[in-house]
Amino acid sequence: MNAPDAIPPSTASRLPADLLARLGALLGERFTLAAAVRAQHGKDESYHAAAAPDAVAFVRSTEEVQAVVKACAEHRVPVIAFGTGTGLEGHVAALHGGVTIDLSQMNRVLAVHEGDLDVQIEAGVTRKQLNAHLRDSGLFFPIDPGADASLGGMAATRASGTNAVRYGTMRENVLGLTVVLSDGSVIKTGGRARKSAAGYDLTRVFVGSEGTLGVITEVTLRLYGIPQAISAAVCAFPTIEDAVNTVIETIQSGIPVARIELVDEVQLDAINRYSKLDYVVQPTLFFEFHGTEAGVMEQVEMVKAITTEHGGSAFRWAMQAEDRNKLWQARHNAYYAALALRPGAKGWATDVCVPISRLADCISETKREIRESKMLAPLVGHVGDGNFHLTYVIDPNNPAEMETAQRLNERMVHRALAMGGTCTGEHGVGYGKIDFVEAEHGPAVDAMRRIKRAFDPDNIMNPGKILRM
Ligand SMILES: Cc1cc2nc3c(=O)[nH]c(=O)nc-3n(C[C@H](O)[C@H](O)[C@H](O)COP(=O)(O)OP(=O)(O)OC[C@H]3O[C@@H](n4cnc5c(N)ncnc54)[C@H](O)[C@@H]3O)c2cc1C
Repeated sequence: MNAPDAIPPSTASRLPADLLARLGALLGERFTLAAAVRAQHGKDESYHAAAAPDAVAFVRSTEEVQAVVKACAEHRVPVIAFGTGTGLEGHVAALHGGVTIDLSQMNRVLAVHEGDLDVQIEAGVTRKQLNAHLRDSGLFFPIDPGADASLGGMAATRASGTNAVRYGTMRENVLGLTVVLSDGSVIKTGGRARKSAAGYDLTRVFVGSEGTLGVITEVTLRLYGIPQAISAAVCAFPTIEDAVNTVIETIQSGIPVARIELVDEVQLDAINRYSKLDYVVQPTLFFEFHGTEAGVMEQVEMVKAITTEHGGSAFRWAMQAEDRNKLWQARHNAYYAALALRPGAKGWATDVCVPISRLADCISETKREIRESKMLAPLVGHVGDGNFHLTYVIDPNNPAEMETAQRLNERMVHRALAMGGTCTGEHGVGYGKIDFVEAEHGPAVDAMRRIKRAFDPDNIMNPGKILRM
């Protein structure tokens, strides 16, 4: 299961007394050794084995992060950044113990520049909090992982979501960062300019680095104007191939859909039950169109023509904001809906991404293998990007099931790689996909190791994640 060889027992006594005294004096009650708090910070939302840190530091400023990292660096104690803990690949497990830095109290929106369409925030601000703050400005931030994750965590995992087909991922939407490095020094990367040709692009080195190169304390993000017109619709198809071919043609035709999400029949049934909806239980696409009234109508007509060609049903519309929110919340709850199909089971969520022309082949082959294995594994996808997800709904105490899930997962990843794709489009590596990084990047992994050593020579920043050193 890609689990580390040994997860050391976590005991507070492993931290040097000097470190305990310094961090206690710095943070008071915001530095804690409480077992329940440590346990909560050693696990994410995945089935991966948890590993509690030795202590948790709740920070409120870049200076406090700096002081915590500096003290840990002096003692070569690992430091694990923690946003909201919604990662899916064991990202926050303290595999080698250490101090977890919880950034949830760094949750201030520092500056909204409406005229420039950008915002500066502290890393603990969550995506929903940011959009609530922006509500009256006519602006919004589009990246929307299913969970209400922190924007620091989203930058750290290079997250995306249902809007990425139109607005891009965190890679395209982070303009600049403030980062505390492994020796406690602070740097600013990027800036507020829309483009820059000045030097190495350090912003994109830290975006997706999963806390292994530094702790992000502030983020500058692009914003967008709320479109004049927004329409959402649901369309069912006779087969999953029909649905996926609709997506491929829509993208290849250059129709600027804002969202185009695939839900297979197993996942749709789960969504209906969990969110008390009554969609037809068939492979289905959820669409959203943004633009002017005329632009949206044009997009709708073009997409309708493609869906009709592929046997799609009439569109079921969600015109009012309230109905659209209901629709997308149901989509965002897909993971919990899948888990609810089998009470007591755990979710093994995994994602791959392939070039759009290979999407139908990749999904059809993957679905065939799931059917043959009799595994319960609903499928959803941000398919406009060529990205899809499976949730194996499993009993982790059943070795046969775990073995089947592992085999299917490995085969899906290698299938995606053979098609020119990636082992993860958005969830990231953590320690769950660490072996696949080597398979995907080959000798380039050595170059990544050199970057890691340059930024973190003592390997204290979230050790055991992304790369085997
Ligand atoms: C129901 C559900 C749906 C999801 N849907 C999506 C989806 O559609 N798209 C998607 O991309 N992901 C999705 N995810 C995964 C998850 O929400 C994202 O990976 C998210 O970006 C994690 O943010 P977080 O604040 O929870 O980070 P955490 O889980 O707390 O941390 C994740 C990683 O980032 C590092 N990190 C966190 N904060 C910082 C920081 N300030 N500085 C440096 N490193 C940091 C951590 O050390 C860790 O390695 C989903 C998860 C769930 C449970």
